[in-house]
Amino acid sequence: MKFYVCKDCGYEHTSIVVYQRHMKAVHNKVPINTCKICSEKFKGNDEFDKHLQFTHGTNHWDLNLAMKQVLRDMKKLD
Ligand SMILES: [Zn+2]
Ligand SMILES: [Zn+2]
Repeated sequence: MKFYVCKDCGYEHTSIVVYQRHMKAVHNKVPINTCKICSEKFKGNDEFDKHLQFTHGTNHWDLNLAMKQVLRDMKKLD
C-alpha cells in the first residue's frame, strides 16, 4: 500500500485526500495541486476542482480520472 507521509509530523496517510485534509487541519497548510492535464498549479482543493470542471470538463483528481478510465474499460467489456 502506498503511504503519504507528513513531512511535519511523520503521520502516514493512505490517500492523498486524507493527507491534504491532515495538512490543512493539523498544520494549517493549503495543498498545492498540479493539474496532470495542463501542468498548472493550484492552491487548495476548491480551486483545483473548479479548474478541472471548467477547463477540462471533469470533476475530480487524477485518482478519480484513473477510476473513470477503469470504469470506461469495464463498460467496453460488456
Ligand atoms: Zn502532520
Ligand atoms: Zn488543467
